[in-house]
Amino acid sequence: MCFFLIPLVLLAGCKPRGPEIVKRTQFVMGTLVEITVVAEDSQATADAITQAFQEMQRVEKLMSRSMEGSEVRRINRAAGERPVEVSRDLFSVVRVAMEVSRLSAGAFDITVGNLVSLWTRCWKENRIPSEQEVAAVLRGVGFGALDIDETNKTLFLKKEGMELTLGGIAKGYAVDRAFCGLQDGGFKNIIVNAGGDLRTGGTKLGAPWVVGIQDPRDKSRIMARLRETDAAVATSGDYERYFMKNGVRYHHILDPRTGFPSTRCRSVTVLCDELIRADSLATAVFVLGPEQGLSLVEKLPTMEALIVDGNGQIVMSSGMEERIRLE
Ligand code: ADP
Ligand code: MG
Repeated sequence: MCFFLIPLVLLAGCKPRGPEIVKRTQFVMGTLVEITVVAEDSQATADAITQAFQEMQRVEKLMSRSMEGSEVRRINRAAGERPVEVSRDLFSVVRVAMEVSRLSAGAFDITVGNLVSLWTRCWKENRIPSEQEVAAVLRGVGFGALDIDETNKTLFLKKEGMELTLGGIAKGYAVDRAFCGLQDGGFKNIIVNAGGDLRTGGTKLGAPWVVGIQDPRDKSRIMARLRETDAAVATSGDYERYFMKNGVRYHHILDPRTGFPSTRCRSVTVLCDELIRADSLATAVFVLGPEQGLSLVEKLPTMEALIVDGNGQIVMSSGMEERIRLE
């Protein structure tokens, strides 16, 4: 009797082979990042996800403005003094940032470092900066003063005291790197989600990945859903980081032309092929507002956008209408 039981027990211990959903979360770049991969071998998948997180951390160490020893800090310290040789990673991110700056006529500008610092300081002091404070800081803002040397792969902030910040673009690049690393490792069905900014590949057990887009005035409500296989989706909103003063909302997306938070939109969701572009373009369109923002989107063939404007009205690009379902 026992002889028959043993093989049966062994068989029962063997799980039938088939794809499994492996999900891990980690705090990187100030955000809870969730990586999900559907694959056959769960141990190999988990190892690949660990490597993907390590890649994101490597990018963070290069591009953080606050981490001691980062390349961005070295450039900021050398402002007004000398060009700094940087990694291919940072160079390529700055190249895309400059392209988005030109496309958006300066609505997106990575030289807003000091402006971000001013608003962060005032936020802590629960006050609004004066016009003079803002004007003084704006003198050191402007992507025209960032020199890119293609031959020597150096970056140079020409004005003393100027500061780069990659807060509006580095997360997108880090997600792209994690995603492409998983794809290079042979994984096909992937979603890398950094707090709503995400990149999808393949399917979730045969069905497209479902991406919910939050209502900017009611975090518990999903206002729209996308069903995507291979896409990058990023949202910039006024509802994640802000403070209220005299009934006015002051948030973290700043108009480099005025020095104040842009009030033209409540949220902008951009669909693109790579997250580095979706991330930076979402910030750019947010600052530009619905009219100029949409005309930029319609010019770029790989890009679509959904905008909730300053009055709560939804507007979207022509291609987005076909892809999105409003709730
Ligand atoms: P989140 O980081 O919440 O996803 P965004 O992608 O819109 O939001 O990026 C906002 C961050 O980008 C800010 O915290 C700041 O560091 C930086 N930033 C703010 N305004 C601009 C701007 N006009 N151009 C480029 N970067 C900006
Ligand atoms: Mg962004």
